[in-house]
Amino acid sequence: MSKKPGLTVLAGPTAVGKGTVSTYIRDNYPEVWLSVSATTRAPRPGEKEGVHYFFKSAEEFDALVADGQLLEWAVVHGQNRYGTLRSTVEAAIAEGKSVLLEIDLQGARQVKEAVPDANFVFLAPPSWEEMVRRLVGRGTETPEEQQRRLETAKLELAAEPEFNHTVINDDVERAADELVSLMGLTPHQR
Ligand code: 5GP
Repeated sequence: MSKKPGLTVLAGPTAVGKGTVSTYIRDNYPEVWLSVSATTRAPRPGEKEGVHYFFKSAEEFDALVADGQLLEWAVVHGQNRYGTLRSTVEAAIAEGKSVLLEIDLQGARQVKEAVPDANFVFLAPPSWEEMVRRLVGRGTETPEEQQRRLETAKLELAAEPEFNHTVINDDVERAADELVSLMGLTPHQR
């Protein structure tokens, strides 16, 4: 059975579509409090400060780490740092909100240490072949980078047993609805 409102962590391999599922939830489920992470990565076109991320310089991120302001943080794809702001997440939980963190696997493991009774949901691809197709299909990475991400993805897939639930991302709406019901909320009628 799904757990009560509180903290839910969504993680999964590279290119499984975590970002697409969380964007769908942001746009369609205002009852979900989706955490906005801090990152040192530069904004992509259309990304807004405070909506998609809080964009930080390396020095600003260092200060957040030094002050203990991050519930978890990680270097993702060997490049930029990403982290969850502890105070906003704790306040939302205290207010009884249904909080969702969409983070990478290293971050999920840190949250498991800090908040072991959170609800951990693994987003899985329909198949390995589909995952390769999605990764290569993006067309934004060099062949070397694609190979590196596939190696990482293999290791990440092996983490599934560490999670309370698995949701297969065969269809974004369906996967988002399943995630929302695992959070103890009612999926929308269509
Ligand atoms: P992107 O740069 O495409 O927005 O995100 C890259 C990766 O960073 C995704 O796998 C996403 O799950 C992860 N990520 C985003 N925010 C956080 C965070 O606060 N903590 C951690 N550990 N990973 C994050």
